[in-house]
Amino acid sequence: MIKIEREKNTVGVMIKFYCMKKHKRKNPLCKECSELLEYARERLENCPYGENKKSCKRCTSPCYAQEKRERIRQVMGYSGPRMLYYKPLEWMDHLFK
Ligand SMILES: [Zn+2]
Repeated sequence: MIKIEREKNTVGVMIKFYCMKKHKRKNPLCKECSELLEYARERLENCPYGENKKSCKRCTSPCYAQEKRERIRQVMGYSGPRMLYYKPLEWMDHLFK
């Protein structure tokens, strides 16, 4: 799978996991989480580095708005460690920490 696609997938899985556990939702996601997901996907699609992108953490032109960034970080912080039980995450240190 290409990089951007993989990241989109990853972020989607994490947000879904977060919403399921934290907000007790399954499908669809709550409004807040689906908006966040939508936003994250859009940002990835518009990443100026495209397929050459490095970690968003190390990116020199961070594209997430401050407030969204915080929320993504919360989601990652919550879902990341818990999801380790479900599948190995080779991208763990790649994403927001
Ligand atoms: Zn939610």
